[in-house]
Amino acid sequence: ITFPIHGAMYHPPGGVLRHDAVVWGLAKGAANKGVEIHQQTEALDVGVKNGKVHSVTTDQGVINCNQVLISAGGYSASLIHGFLGIKLPISVLTIQAMVTQPLKPLLNHVVSSGAYHAYANQTLKGEIATGAHMDPWPNYTTLNTAYYIKHQAQALSEFLPCLRGVRFMRIWGGLADMTPDMAPIMDGNNQIEGFFMDCGWGYFGFKSCASVGKYMAEFIAKNTCPEILKPFALKRYEEHKLMGETAALVNYSPDN
Ligand SMILES: Cc1cc2nc3c(=O)[nH]c(=O)nc-3n(C[C@H](O)[C@H](O)[C@H](O)COP(=O)(O)OP(=O)(O)OC[C@H]3O[C@@H](n4cnc5c(N)ncnc54)[C@H](O)[C@@H]3O)c2cc1C
Repeated sequence: ITFPIHGAMYHPPGGVLRHDAVVWGLAKGAANKGVEIHQQTEALDVGVKNGKVHSVTTDQGVINCNQVLISAGGYSASLIHGFLGIKLPISVLTIQAMVTQPLKPLLNHVVSSGAYHAYANQTLKGEIATGAHMDPWPNYTTLNTAYYIKHQAQALSEFLPCLRGVRFMRIWGGLADMTPDMAPIMDGNNQIEGFFMDCGWGYFGFKSCASVGKYMAEFIAKNTCPEILKPFALKRYEEHKLMGETAALVNYSPDN
């Protein structure tokens, strides 16, 4: 055993959500309230005149507007730099997750280990879903790596020994936009009037999205930053007022 367990934290409110169902639910709710969602439409540029946003160019045409929000996950930093010349302290890493073959019920809660950097929970289908570790080198691919699979297999077989010999069935990869203080960047009307950004969410942007969406919408609608978002402004890096995200288990940013 690499990391013997000396103690644990019990956190009853913690849990899991079906992420695809949540996203479809949010999209349905937004559409019901009159939001138009244009799928398969790529933003190609943001038009700026005299320091103010005036349009977005897409592969379907130009949209005139005086406010725009970029929240493009792992692509945010490159788009914001490419469109507007604003450089963000973001490193992009691949994050992966896997499921095992289906098993009879054995786990009715999430277990995670900071030492092994792995979590596991059992899905409704009986599969053990697991992830957390990220290969610590920046890249823009969503390819899966043997390095990651080996890490998860070793971690799981040590902290949940009953899973030894169980087979992995499926694996996914996505991009994580990591900041030096492991906290997101939520900002607006900074350098360019009418331009807002919500990025740098790394590997925990899903659990925060409903609440953050509400506050970013308020920011854009009222053109005034809600108090709760102020500490997340981009200028915190210039002012050495980093967030010190104590809830983050591991800091992956190679920029530190
Ligand atoms: C395997 C894996 C496991 C994860 N586990 C968790 C977890 O347990 N808990 C948690 O909270 N988070 C988790 N995350 C992280 C979470 O998914 C992200 O933090 C979150 O999705 C970020 O949301 P976002 O809206 O900022 O970006 P995204 O969800 O990446 O959405 C950005 C969107 O912008 C679109 N886009 C990009 N470029 C353009 C363009 N030029 N024009 C138009 N559209 C564009 C993309 O197609 C995409 O739809 C996980 C991620 C992965 C990959």
